[in-house]
Amino acid sequence: MTKQVYTFGGGVKHDDPRAKDKVITGGKGSNLAEMAGIGLPVPPGFTITTEECVKYLAEGANFSDELRAEVAEALAHIEKSVGKSFGDSTDPLLVSVRSGARVSMPGMMDTVLNLGLNDVTVEGLASTSGDDRFAWDSYRRFIQMYSDVVLGVEHHLFEEALEIAKEDNGYDNDVELTANDWRGLVKQYTAIVERELGKPFPQDPQEQLWGAIQAVFDSWDADRAKVYRRLNDIPGDWGTAVNVQAMVFGNMGDTSATGVAFTRDPATGERAYYGEWLVNAQGEDVVAGIRTPQYLTRAARERAGAKPLSMEEAMPEAYAELAAVFDLLEKHYRDMQDIEFTVQQNKLWMLQTRSGKRTAKAALKMAVDMVEEGLIDEATAIKRVDPMALDQLLHPTLDPKAPRDILGKGLPASPGAASGAIVLDADTAEKRAEMGEAVVLVRVETSPEDIHGMHAAKGILTARGGMTSHAAVVARGMGRPCVSGASGLSIDMKARTLRIGNRELKEGDLITLDGATGEIMAGEVATIEPELAGDFGTLMEWADKHRRMKVRTNAETPADCKMARQFGAEGIGLCRTEHMFFDAGRISAVRQMILAEDEKGRREALAKLLPEQRADFQAIFEVMAGLPVTIRLLDPPLHEFLPHSDAEFAELSDAIGIGVDTLKRRADELHEFNPMLGHRGCRLGITFPEIYEMQARAIFEAACDVAAASGEAIVPEVMIPLVATKRELAILKKVVDQAAAKVFEEKGKTLDYLVGTMIELPRAALMAGEIAEEAKFFSFGTNDLTQTTLGVSRDDAARFLSPYVEKGIYPRDPFVSLDIEGVGQLVQLGAERGRATYADLKLGICGEHGGDPASIAFCEKVGLDYVSASPYRVPIARLAAAQAALA
Ligand code: PEP
Ligand code: MG
Repeated sequence: MTKQVYTFGGGVKHDDPRAKDKVITGGKGSNLAEMAGIGLPVPPGFTITTEECVKYLAEGANFSDELRAEVAEALAHIEKSVGKSFGDSTDPLLVSVRSGARVSMPGMMDTVLNLGLNDVTVEGLASTSGDDRFAWDSYRRFIQMYSDVVLGVEHHLFEEALEIAKEDNGYDNDVELTANDWRGLVKQYTAIVERELGKPFPQDPQEQLWGAIQAVFDSWDADRAKVYRRLNDIPGDWGTAVNVQAMVFGNMGDTSATGVAFTRDPATGERAYYGEWLVNAQGEDVVAGIRTPQYLTRAARERAGAKPLSMEEAMPEAYAELAAVFDLLEKHYRDMQDIEFTVQQNKLWMLQTRSGKRTAKAALKMAVDMVEEGLIDEATAIKRVDPMALDQLLHPTLDPKAPRDILGKGLPASPGAASGAIVLDADTAEKRAEMGEAVVLVRVETSPEDIHGMHAAKGILTARGGMTSHAAVVARGMGRPCVSGASGLSIDMKARTLRIGNRELKEGDLITLDGATGEIMAGEVATIEPELAGDFGTLMEWADKHRRMKVRTNAETPADCKMARQFGAEGIGLCRTEHMFFDAGRISAVRQMILAEDEKGRREALAKLLPEQRADFQAIFEVMAGLPVTIRLLDPPLHEFLPHSDAEFAELSDAIGIGVDTLKRRADELHEFNPMLGHRGCRLGITFPEIYEMQARAIFEAACDVAAASGEAIVPEVMIPLVATKRELAILKKVVDQAAAKVFEEKGKTLDYLVGTMIELPRAALMAGEIAEEAKFFSFGTNDLTQTTLGVSRDDAARFLSPYVEKGIYPRDPFVSLDIEGVGQLVQLGAERGRATYADLKLGICGEHGGDPASIAFCEKVGLDYVSASPYRVPIARLAAAQAALA
């Protein structure tokens, strides 16, 4: 039998590597074992493996005798280490029960503290601690947490009873309640449980323990855990471990405290201890956002101008010990740590350490700093930054020169700027965001139930909670700007209005948040484009050194090309020429061309378009200054360009001198049942070669002109879309070659150029060996290739695809992240067959997947030469390509 329960602390030495393997004992469990192993003060405890959770869920909520025996033995280890017995009436052992999956899932899982208390042991705790109030407060906390988390009794029932008790006694604050008050509340609490469940609160500590273990396992499949997993691509079959640990108490008076700390600033990456703590408080008090916590360091307190003493000032000895632990843990893990600790009567205890969540900005700074400090090497730094997180830094920030109508201020909990309509609950946030509206979620405080709304929102604002509150931690993890603890904010949920300072706003009003300063502003504030400087630039340089694939961009305007170059694009992988046709100045010539009765009519219209297209390409070649540029000839079905309204038809009729009725008849003739599978792509070139001829001419004229003016060698890459057969490509290649020959003759100058094709139909991938006889390059158009391989319309998929992902039919939206299993096979096959024919065939990808890290990793494996992504995705692709090369 493989061991399923691992003890830690209390001097145990581990030789079983499973104990410190987070796949087996979860992140929390493995790190507790690790911390205890390096001699840090960790209360003794044990971890039940994730394997046991998976088994429990699969086998229908059963615990084996073997497991019960292992748990009993592990509990005996705790009892021996602390010299107390579980359930003992005079000096009872109390434990905490926490979940802990392989990766941290903030707020997803449930914690139970003080387990082991009952009507008898509470008296024992009172006499050994010499503190009645503490004992009864601990007991009522336990009943409240256990009933909520394990028994499913609603939390608010207890909160209401507490509020009434406070009101009756004229108290403002929990700390004013006396031992007797708590004793009275315990009575009320147990009565609430009995009333709600029809049976008494469990008194047997063993029953309490197994109930809690079961609740942890069950919570793996709770809705909020599922949502979090979906948003973060965490597989459903990992399971969670259970950690049972001897209690230490931060609520034993003024020499006790509890806190949460980061070894560096998780918002900025600054090398300064960062955290919050509360005197005389227990566990969740800090993160729950109910009492606003105090600063950890004196410097932070002074900077914020706050009064309550920092831990550094109030408990200098425990603080010094804690700071030494921070340094030791950072050196040990070579990463920023997120730590939970408790001080019980001046003695420091470590309850948790893990790699801390951080903003993209902080991730970059820490990665670069740690290389400079010699803690990690460049390759580790590259691997440590999540490419998608860079997205946070690639978006506009508030223009410092723009006027700001400041409503109020809170804590700068997660940086970035967000503007949107105020929404007051998560469901509304999700609904309005689905309709395409930018929303800012405004709450008193957030809880795990709000996750979907936080994700849907552009930004989050809360009235309560500190920098480590649920809202702050989750927002930073998601990269959403967040302002928390805005004390001047009050919300009226009935009227759906809110007040900030002396201003009243209602749901739907626009506000702007600055998550870096904590400012809350009315209306929308102007923004400016980001820059890749400083740490971002450094990490990108390292990524460039380590990657093999090139990174190009999908762009068709000179402005986009410029931006993409600033972001490091090494060429254009896809210039979609149809976008140029929509330009207001030329759409009527395009329509004239489409609606012409014959080739002569089309050629007349095309002649008007030629100089315009040439100017487009000239501008692009100029910006790209000799970098490779792939230009795709016209692709979409022609009806997309047609007029819609009567007024537009009338206007066109005036412009080109053809009657409205004739135009409408021609337009009707162009109607198609399945336009995406219809008259589009190279099929346009086959039927109307003069269109491609004009485009090719424009490309070569522009290339010759720019090459002559700039002295740069320009090598245009002309790309034919939606090819299915070699013959299609051969016919159209000839059109391009002839246009090139004519232009070169007229200009008395030649250029190198390449003709290639997109591979975006399954037949093209299968026949890639033959098609490569006519192509100098392939670019995998994985948008269409996904659509045609899955038989799922890319324009309609949004309506029905999300249940597909929820039900695990596809692990992720296949239009976002390549379906590697299926579509990937076609990409691989196309690459292999193409290269077997022509070894130097240039291979790239230009579907949306070219900017998706998982798809980029696949492209590296298949040996593509480059990926092409939209301009904002270029830095993401550079980093992802480096990570893929290092993997
Ligand atoms: C594709 O199909 O992947 C592609 C890049 O072309 P488009 O998105 O323009 O159809
Ligand atoms: Mg396509």
